[in-house]
Amino acid sequence: MGVPRSIVIVGGGTAGWMCAVYLNHAFGRRVDITLVESPAIGTIGVGEASFNTLKSFFDTVGLSEADWMPPSQGTYKLAIRFVDWNSARRTFYHPFQRYDDVDGLGLVEWWLHTRSATETFDDACFTAPALCDAALAPKTLDGTPFEHRVAYPYGYHFDATLLGNYLRTVAVQRGVRHVQGTVGAIDVDETGNVTRVHLDAERALEGELFIDCTGFRGLIARQALDEPWESFSDSLLCDRALALRVPYRDSHEPIRPHTTATAQSAGWVWDIPLKQRVGTGYVYSSAFIDDDAAAEEFRAHLGVPAEEFDPMPIRFRSGRLRNSWVNNCVALGLSGSFVEPLESTTIFFIQYELLQLLNHIPDGSGDREVRASFNRVLADCVDGVRDFLVMHYHCSDRVDTPFWRATKTALVVPDELAQRLALWRHRLPSASSVNPRYHGFYPYSYVVMMLGMTEHRPPSHPLLQFADALRAAPAFAALSQTRRELCAVLPTHRDYLDALYDGQDNDGDGDRGSRAHGLAEPGRVR
Ligand code: FAD
Repeated sequence: MGVPRSIVIVGGGTAGWMCAVYLNHAFGRRVDITLVESPAIGTIGVGEASFNTLKSFFDTVGLSEADWMPPSQGTYKLAIRFVDWNSARRTFYHPFQRYDDVDGLGLVEWWLHTRSATETFDDACFTAPALCDAALAPKTLDGTPFEHRVAYPYGYHFDATLLGNYLRTVAVQRGVRHVQGTVGAIDVDETGNVTRVHLDAERALEGELFIDCTGFRGLIARQALDEPWESFSDSLLCDRALALRVPYRDSHEPIRPHTTATAQSAGWVWDIPLKQRVGTGYVYSSAFIDDDAAAEEFRAHLGVPAEEFDPMPIRFRSGRLRNSWVNNCVALGLSGSFVEPLESTTIFFIQYELLQLLNHIPDGSGDREVRASFNRVLADCVDGVRDFLVMHYHCSDRVDTPFWRATKTALVVPDELAQRLALWRHRLPSASSVNPRYHGFYPYSYVVMMLGMTEHRPPSHPLLQFADALRAAPAFAALSQTRRELCAVLPTHRDYLDALYDGQDNDGDGDRGSRAHGLAEPGRVR
């Protein structure tokens, strides 16, 4: 197959419309791009927190925050706040920020050596936790970000349905053909290539490359082409969720600039603050709690009266296709892979896969080798994130419920990770000891999890026995000064958003989308 001249995307969720906008940006009108979505089958309706790389997606396709955030109820995300994940019930932040080095060692090594008795590692080594605690924006009103050492020091929260609808509007305006219909029969030729997808007796769509964005259904790659699914259920125990949309009680309530993950008896609850409401949900393991008990635990956690509580149940399976690219079909989004959203990584996978698709676009020479390379880097990325999530559970020192005990005794911990964890009990993670294959997480994230999930403290680096313990004092002092200055000059998150949304249509009632989209409306507090 040479460079494809006609691409058919099946599915109109976040994956489908991100794909349409991105490929349209790459190919312009030199490639026909058609997206078909079923008006009868809703999108999953969750997926509302992102990784910090998402800004590079919008930058690439030329959409500013002022363009896309107001119509999507977008807010900023500086970190994930982990609550009740360790036996001491101590809260900690996993920010997108990085900490400095002093004399070649990470500031957190100096913290371990001199300050662990008086300060928490996240407060001592980052500024983002202070901004989160004060519900501040990551920018001054003139748009200057609070942090310059990393290209993308924040991610986002957004209404998944509204973002999909916004991207659809942009894609169609830019020339993507939008077809409404439910794909039934799929024609596959003798070489295993898809030749056309049938919508009904009269309509069919032909193409050279098919992108399967049909969500958990996996209509083309998994069903029509029979590509095997590799389950992660022996490493990640959660397989259910209850999702709910909760309005703010008070329109002046602070909007937290972070996601919160609060551990529960058999999983954890996400809390995603949007502009007009909060998206929340309980991710749990059906092997350790039944659906009714999970609902009751979730309701009690939220403090919502029973008559107002009507969550949307979701069943999911963690894992990935053995190969996401099979012949002339690429599976993208939930149809290709899924791990529970503990670090909000599925849309990150979509974005990374789109980048790799362009890097590996076939031109007729060596297509088999090119596809194999694509499948390898993608599997590395998904498997790397799986292992990082396994580490969250396995390193947590909670053993107070059957679920938390099982995360120590019943989880299959991949060998590579087991070896790393054995080392990290004695030496903090570093660039030479973390997974070197790209998966989006860097040594500092592993350090945060090692220190946040347990009371155990490895010894500080032996080199510090030969150093002047006060060498890092100026770095800590400078960080404290920066923290004070930021807290003095940054606007509140809500004030920044009000300025950003000013004059935009941000009633956020979804009137452009969910009803027109035939969506299963995620659970609401009535
Ligand atoms: P869907 O949204 O399910 O869309 C599937 C599309 O396929 C729909 O448009 C449907 O109409 C169409 N379709 C299906 N069958 C047919 C057919 N036969 N013919 C035509 N069209 C068809 N990700 C994150 O990045 N961050 C998060 O915080 C996050 N939280 C999550 C929480 C939970 C509980 C779950 C389960 C997932 C979460 N995710 C998260 C993942 C997120 O939901 C997805 O990445 C995102 O919504 C993209 O989904 P999708 O487009 O792949 O599938």
